[in-house]
Amino acid sequence: MEWEEYQKKLTEYGIDKKDFDDIEKAFIFASDAHEGQVRFSGDAYITHPINVSLKIALLKLDTRTIIAALLHDTVEDEKTTLRIIRKKFGEEVAFLVNGLTKVKKIKYRGVERQIESMRKMFLAWAEDVRVVIIKLMDRLHNMETLDSHPKQEKRERIALETLEIYAPLADRLGMWSVKSQLEDLSFKYVYPEEYKWLIDEVHTKIPDREKYLELLRPIVARELDKEGISSIEISWRAKNYYSLWKKLLKKDMDWSRILDLTAVRIIVKDVEACYATLGVIHKVWRPLPGRIKDYIALPKPNGYQSLHTTVFCEDGRVTEFQIRTPHMNRDAEFGIAAHWAWEMAGKPKDGARFQHGKFAWVKQLQEWQKEFKKTKQSGAEFLETLKIDFFKNRIFVLTPKGDVIDLPEGATPVDFAYTVHSEIGECTSGAKINGKMSALSHSLKSGDVVEILTQKNKKPSEEWLKFVKTSIARSRIKGSLRKSSHSLYSLGVKKPQKVDIIITAGNRVGLLKDVISVFESFRLNIEKITSDSSGIDYPIINISFTPKNDGQVEKIKTRLKNLVRVEEVTIKEKSR
Ligand code: MN
Repeated sequence: MEWEEYQKKLTEYGIDKKDFDDIEKAFIFASDAHEGQVRFSGDAYITHPINVSLKIALLKLDTRTIIAALLHDTVEDEKTTLRIIRKKFGEEVAFLVNGLTKVKKIKYRGVERQIESMRKMFLAWAEDVRVVIIKLMDRLHNMETLDSHPKQEKRERIALETLEIYAPLADRLGMWSVKSQLEDLSFKYVYPEEYKWLIDEVHTKIPDREKYLELLRPIVARELDKEGISSIEISWRAKNYYSLWKKLLKKDMDWSRILDLTAVRIIVKDVEACYATLGVIHKVWRPLPGRIKDYIALPKPNGYQSLHTTVFCEDGRVTEFQIRTPHMNRDAEFGIAAHWAWEMAGKPKDGARFQHGKFAWVKQLQEWQKEFKKTKQSGAEFLETLKIDFFKNRIFVLTPKGDVIDLPEGATPVDFAYTVHSEIGECTSGAKINGKMSALSHSLKSGDVVEILTQKNKKPSEEWLKFVKTSIARSRIKGSLRKSSHSLYSLGVKKPQKVDIIITAGNRVGLLKDVISVFESFRLNIEKITSDSSGIDYPIINISFTPKNDGQVEKIKTRLKNLVRVEEVTIKEKSR
């Protein structure tokens, strides 16, 4: 595609002409960078970033995001290319492109317990939701052109990754249209037989649904007209294949139990008109009990708003209606991206809010939240859960192989090592974070790649207890210190041992009491005391105790010697 044609598209999508110079600069830069590169389809590589950027433009995101989309695959050498991009296109574009380069490194491992962590990490790592949106559009275009990938195994892996990581992400962001496109495009590769079966079923089971709905359209318009409601749009939409298939699985493959196979969508100007329209539908056709849903008063967890009802329609055919305003419709299709566009529309593009760093994902969520709070409580609640869900004091770091390790905020390389494997923790001698040697007490950040250096006979240090954050690391370090303290004593370091003292003294009243008070003054427990004075002048007192330290024994000996009539004090050391 040449610039002229591209420019025409931008105009069509309503992009401001004054930004065309900047966009053209990126268009040329990307074309040069991909010069000579060819896709599997045989197309020039540049067709890919062009397509991705047009998808972004269609979503009405800001110019910098369009530029970042054009540049998203140009970074080969992070240091040099990013520096050039920063110089040519500014800090914010460089920030977005860097984010995209980072998320490229996330390797899909397909391990079930890791999938949720990966999604979270993806979001945390992307830092800015626009990075996620570009990445979703990048994936969408790659899925659209997946047919030309020569390796079947690779096609399946990419499709599965799309189904498990990217489609749920789009769903979380409320981007329904992107989610269903990604799902249907993957469905074909991941479950080819089921896909084929479903398509055939849809075509044979309900061949006339299109005809029926076309017939219904003027009837609905006429009924609304009678009540003075003018509809902006009456359309219909088939449930996407993948979610239809999932629903069939749930309903024992019984088609008759799927009532929202196709829905008639009525778009009217405001909320009042929505409720009025619902009234009209119910007046004309009898509603099915339990199928009326007011997602305007109570939006779905992802923010979705609409009124739904299912009625016995013309010829008694069960038909679902969805009633909403244009704003709700756009939000439902494009989710967070639509929100972005609304926000942009009313504000100067170079306002302070749009400077580098202020776009951070969390920040945007907070903005979003504020706006929802103004209007409806449940929206705010949704965002609160979204935020907590994604960022509840967790960070996500990577092993050099690309496995995701989920850790609490402030976790250190030592926590990482013990979480990966306790044996690695035990032998940790150093750590590299993103390729650089770092202190073991360093606080890790989401997205860090951590490599633990080990040494065979290395032992955990007591120091580590001062900074570790995970209980697993803490308990393992303590356990290991305990073990090694035992072995230290066995290596000759003295540990308090039980001592026997033998006192020979002239017999006198109160001697035993004086001996005991010596031990009491040192706050020592006498463990055993025997006194043998069988008919001799010089009784023998045998006392067992455990001194608190080595010096104590000598002090006690001296004190005992000084007692009246004590003749001799000897020490007999025993091992336990
Ligand atoms: Mn790409």
